[in-house]
Formats: sequence, structure tokens, C-alpha cells
Amino acid sequence: MDKFLVVILTLTFMGCQTNETKIVQSKAKKVVIAHRGASGYLPEHTLPAKAMAYAMNVDFLEQDVVLSKDNVPIVIHDIHLETVTDVATQFPDRKREDNRYYVIDFTFEELKQLHVSERFNPATNEAIYPNRFPLGKSSFKLHSLQEEIELIQGLNKSTGKNIGIYPEIKAPAFHLKEGKDISKIVLKTLANYGYKTKKDNCILQCFDAKELKRIRTELASELFLVQLMEFKEEEDKLEEFSKYADGIGPWVQQIIVGENEDGTWKFSKLVSNAHQLNLKVHAYTFRADQLGEFKTFEELLTVALYKANVDGVFTDFPDKVVEFINKN
Ligand code: CA
Repeated sequence: MDKFLVVILTLTFMGCQTNETKIVQSKAKKVVIAHRGASGYLPEHTLPAKAMAYAMNVDFLEQDVVLSKDNVPIVIHDIHLETVTDVATQFPDRKREDNRYYVIDFTFEELKQLHVSERFNPATNEAIYPNRFPLGKSSFKLHSLQEEIELIQGLNKSTGKNIGIYPEIKAPAFHLKEGKDISKIVLKTLANYGYKTKKDNCILQCFDAKELKRIRTELASELFLVQLMEFKEEEDKLEEFSKYADGIGPWVQQIIVGENEDGTWKFSKLVSNAHQLNLKVHAYTFRADQLGEFKTFEELLTVALYKANVDGVFTDFPDKVVEFINKN
């Protein structure tokens, strides 16, 4: 080969390497998790919402997982169906005494017949987020965890990127009461697709502390585990969490707790306490159309990422967060 060409190729290669290292480093600093996919733009947890989020160059795509009657892990946020599907129209006689339709009462084949739409209130048929994707338009379906992993791994192959998955075990105690060990089934699916250790670009999350501990101990998972948090009293349990988990997933309101008299934001000690125990902090949920006390989405992101110093965010608007991080 021409010497000159070799030099150019070497320089190009070195250039790529440097760029690559830079990108990896900046991403390692702040992690963007597509919350239920690009759910600010398309119905949550549908494959189109996942493909859209994938193209936004997030670090992870989130999957909430509930089991079907025939033990297929389904990607859906609630154990119920009537807030995102037309189950009440298609299977009116399949509700339980509490008037709710349960994922666990339907086979995978039946679930596949349902039409998925933007989240709505079944009592009024009104959208929860009125400015998002219109109700009942186009065509969306439920899918299994397996189908979603195949989409993401397929895109990793065709694009050359390496975007991770971030599954959540939903309601393990409810599943157990129904005679199902959801964690065991999900761990098996993950292992079948090569997600076994912390190196495998998969983070497993759960609100149920007893169950997440069981996943680490009894079920001997070596995955990166995140303990989700919801209540104030859990903030005293960080040391216990650090014995089996690698990170915590608190609500953003557990971190930014109010405003000082001078107009600056008041923070809890949660992030610094977690960091002292070597726990990463991935906070939820960042929505550009639900800002609370904040004037703009950028202000919320600045305060959470660079003042409160969280390590990552779950967001319905991944493009906005990726753009914000790349700019700052
Ligand atoms: Ca979730």
C-alpha cells in the first residue's frame, strides 16, 4: 500500500478513535433513558415509539414488563389493559369484579388482537396528555419483550450502534399471587439474548426492594440493578440498597424538594448520599409537557443534571434531552 495512504488511514483511524472515546466519556457522564420509548410523540411502549427513540441516540430504551396468561413477558406499563387499549370493546366480558381488565388474564395471541392508543382515562375517553399523539389514530399493537429486544439488537446490527435495554419487573408480588415468578421468566429471556452481566448493556429495575434483592441473591443475577424509589421513608434505606443494587431510580421530586427564599432550588441529600455509597442515580420522569414549578424544560434539565448532579434521566422526550446534553 502507498505510504501516504497508510498515513492518512492511520490518522483517520486515530481521529475516529479520539472522537469515539470522547462520545463514550460524555455519555458515561449523563445517561438518557427513553421512558416507554419516545412516548412524548407516539403511544407509549409501542415498537414505533421504540424505533423513534432509538434513532434519537439515547443510551437506553425502557421496557416495563408484565406476564400474559401463557407466561409471555409483555411490554406494557400497567398490569391492566383498559388505559391504553380497546380491550373493553373487544373483550367486554373479560373484566374482573373490580371492573378492570388484566394482562395476566389474556394469552399472547389475544393480546396481539388489541389496538393500542395514547394513554387515556377509560371513564371519560379523554387523553391524559392532550397535546400528544391523537387517540385512536393509525395502528399500534402490544408486543413481547422478545420482540422488542430483537428490534433493538437488529438496529444495533444494522446501524453499528450499541444502545442498551432497561427492563422493569412490574408488580412481582401480584404476579406471585397469580402463581407466576415474573423475575425468573424475565431473567431467562434476557439471558437468551446475551444479557447476563454488567457488561451486557442492560439495566434491570424494580420498585419492590425485596424482589430486587432476591434477583441479586436467590436468582444470582449479575446484571446492573437499579432500585426504583417512590416514598420518602425509602431514603433512609440507601445503605441496604447498596448491598445488592448498583443504582437508585428516585422520583425527581425526591431530589429537587422546593425553592429557597432567594429563588434558588432546594435539594435533598439523596444524590450525594447515594454517590457516597457508589450508587448511580437515574431520576424519573422528565416531561417537556409537564414542567411543574419550572419555566422551561431546559431549566429543569440544568437543575437536575448539573446542579442536583443526577447521573441519568428517564424522559418522554429523549431528543430534547440528548440535544441539551450535547450542547452543555
Ligand atoms: Ca417503568
